[in-house]
Amino acid sequence: MTPKTEAILAALTGRYPDAVCSLTYGGDPWRLLVMARLSAQCTDARVNIVCESLFARFPDAASMAAGDLSEIEDLVRPCGLFRTKAASIREISVLITEKYGGKVPSDMDELLSLPGVGRKIANLIRGDVFGLPAVVTDTHCIRIAGRLGFYPEEEKDPKRIEKILVRAIDPPYQSDFCHRLVLFGRDICTARAPKCDSCPIASLCTHAQTENHPENKQNNNKASERNIQ
Ligand code: SF4
Repeated sequence: MTPKTEAILAALTGRYPDAVCSLTYGGDPWRLLVMARLSAQCTDARVNIVCESLFARFPDAASMAAGDLSEIEDLVRPCGLFRTKAASIREISVLITEKYGGKVPSDMDELLSLPGVGRKIANLIRGDVFGLPAVVTDTHCIRIAGRLGFYPEEEKDPKRIEKILVRAIDPPYQSDFCHRLVLFGRDICTARAPKCDSCPIASLCTHAQTENHPENKQNNNKASERNIQ
């Protein structure tokens, strides 16, 4: 890793020592799979609430596989896109039960073959459940790693970003780095108004040093005012 990457990782580790997933899945891989699928275009906080009653009614893959689709739809309705999500999590449960003997697979291709499971969810499972190297390119990761200068900020393609970060971050740190970016993204480097003034890694951030950064804009304006006078 470059010295800059090491410094970013060290600062984030110091600030967020417990890099845990914000979905409360209780260590059950199937539950994480279901919750991750429900979290598309929905907050983790809402998924956590919805899943309390969902898992009370369907505690494992076998019970959800045998469950009534309309009942699952009603339970996951608050997460949005409830018909598609209900169909996915039921079908996932059928496959986990019938094809994988009740166990969530760790193989990337097998995970990607499950309905509604893309690389983001597959990497979350591989990193959190199986402790494998995995970069989860969620919205926080894409935004913040771009601002930090791992790639141009205009880059938004999750697959390309995953490749870049896999090369930039040593395998043992990848999964925790992504969890820490989520916490950092909610706390400091927010989407609309990042708190750059109080950011612990501002000196390492490319965005903070660009002309477009509000502080630099102000300084540039002051400089041009001085030049005019
Ligand atoms: S300086 Fe600002 S843009 Fe850069 S990482 Fe910190 S909060 Fe985010």
